[in-house]
Amino acid sequence: MPELPEVEVICREIEPLIKNKTFDVPVLYMPSTVDYPSPEEFTTSLPGRTAKNARRKGKYLLIDLNDGILAIHLRMTGNLLYKEESVNHEAAAEESAKTNETIPADQRFLRLAMPFTDGSVLHFSDMRRFGRVWLVENEEQLQTIVLKNVGPDLLNDLCCEEFIELLQKRKRSQLKALLLDQGFAAGMGNIYTDECLFRCGIHPRRQAETLSPADAEQLYRSIQDVLADGIEHGGTTFRDYRNSSGALGDFQSRLAVYGRKDEPCSCGAAIEKITAAGRGTYYCPRCQAEQTGEEGCD
Ligand SMILES: [Zn+2]
Repeated sequence: MPELPEVEVICREIEPLIKNKTFDVPVLYMPSTVDYPSPEEFTTSLPGRTAKNARRKGKYLLIDLNDGILAIHLRMTGNLLYKEESVNHEAAAEESAKTNETIPADQRFLRLAMPFTDGSVLHFSDMRRFGRVWLVENEEQLQTIVLKNVGPDLLNDLCCEEFIELLQKRKRSQLKALLLDQGFAAGMGNIYTDECLFRCGIHPRRQAETLSPADAEQLYRSIQDVLADGIEHGGTTFRDYRNSSGALGDFQSRLAVYGRKDEPCSCGAAIEKITAAGRGTYYCPRCQAEQTGEEGCD
């Protein structure tokens, strides 16, 4: 669920919180959370490394260390939460079992705790267990091990001309599928793809080759706008995503089509849900009319 804006929000919030802090021994509650190196090697080689800055590539959060890079992908339901003080989770779980209290989700689904030597801690929790963490030694390993199938970042790596060039190489692709394809360009998932196609009035099933240069430019602008808006409003929160301090984003209240089947579009037409690129896709049949090939046909 977290897409580029949500990861960007986490990245901006987390950097000042962890900057120049040194990792202590991590506690790996679910070993498969660590994709690289082995869980044992991760546990022994993270301690002593110091966080320098946080950056993002597509939906990957990258924490540069004084030595190496810690990469995190939240996938469907991953959450990264910073806490000032470490908690003894086993003791807390026993305590709540005694008192019949519900264990908070971030503790119940805790997969990895990464404490710092000053007592603060980064918690990686994940209900659906698809989120992954990597510890690599340098930029080359980052590219070959973590980011090997990740295209240019939609917000940071592409100007309008470069985006249009990429589109021309993928003429035969349906736009919804193309924008979801992280190898084409990285950052957007189902929510922001639907929202950006709505903003530029393009049908999700339209083929890339039918776009005029003006359409393609409009699409690029809509992508930049919708991502910037998402970031500005703290990301989109449904039930899983929280920013790093545990707060909820509020971009979901600004969604024009996503999740709004049968509700009225600003034009008055009812928003429809179809399947495109194998995903539930929301669009306005009036604002995003399908290309019929016959100009002026209504
Ligand atoms: Zn409409």
